[in-house]
Amino acid sequence: MVTLAQKLLKWYAKNGRDLPWRVKGGAHPNPYAVLVSEFMLQQTTVKTVIPYFERFMQRFPTIESLAAASLEEVYQYWQGLGYYTRAKSLHTTAQLIVKQGYFPKTRAEVLKLKGIGSYTASSILALAFNQPETVIDGNVMRIICRLNAFTSPLDEIQDLIREKAEALTDTTCPADYASAIMDLGAMVCTPKNPQCLLCPWQSDCLSRKRKDLESIPQRKKLPKKEKVGYVYLIQNKQGEILIRLRTEKGLLSGLYEFPWSEEKLFSQAKETNKQVLHVFTHFKLTLHLYTLASEHATMNGVFVPIEKLSDYPMSTLMKKVMKIAL
Ligand code: SF4
Repeated sequence: MVTLAQKLLKWYAKNGRDLPWRVKGGAHPNPYAVLVSEFMLQQTTVKTVIPYFERFMQRFPTIESLAAASLEEVYQYWQGLGYYTRAKSLHTTAQLIVKQGYFPKTRAEVLKLKGIGSYTASSILALAFNQPETVIDGNVMRIICRLNAFTSPLDEIQDLIREKAEALTDTTCPADYASAIMDLGAMVCTPKNPQCLLCPWQSDCLSRKRKDLESIPQRKKLPKKEKVGYVYLIQNKQGEILIRLRTEKGLLSGLYEFPWSEEKLFSQAKETNKQVLHVFTHFKLTLHLYTLASEHATMNGVFVPIEKLSDYPMSTLMKKVMKIAL
């Protein structure tokens, strides 16, 4: 009897995506490429990641070259991808691996690296070392719920989903299986308009014929919190703008920014009526833009000529501020 995994692998061999960090037919020969792609793919789509991955690998072709680079340069190659703590963790991880002299191959060792949780560890072990790890992300959860017609809210059936996903995982070609189930979720069993007629599991799927297929999986959506802040364009007589390096911990750490806070920082600053809206994973932030003339580089900042601002790595949020303010 042909198993579900075999059906999926057959479909993948013919239809799976060719991606710059992927090989078909077993483990990737370069675990470093898998590592970089896994960090970039956290919270970011495949389509967005492709050009960033290619540029990054051209500049840092080996783990040694990444480990030897400055964090500032790494940020420059990450600019636009967002979630910069990933870049910092990837850089630290490269340094740890170079220091220990080998790429870790066990779950316990991979989890000791910086910025790697259970999902990324499973992906690395499956894709780089062909280990029978079960990779479970939003795509996989959706497929498992539809395949089994699970209609309970996702957060109530996490263990059940894992159990079913593990039972399905192929142990002969885990690397291809992990890529295949991702592709099935991205290309066929999509959140909207799933293409069931193209699905290798169409005759096994318990919810294929349901009219409300798109409502599986069931999610309880929490509204995003709204926050308000104040951002300051501080300019000296030479027309230079004050920027500062954000402290090493927390949101947007290690990047340059125009001073901002959720509290008002300067009572003498002038309000501009311009605002910048940015949506983070867990909240929405509206920054109100203020201007201030000053000759003092306060708040550990430095004055930089406007034409040089793009030399400093900044978050997408700060680029939005720059666009609106200048
Ligand atoms: S048959 Fe349709 S709903 Fe079922 S797994 Fe395939 S694409 Fe998803």
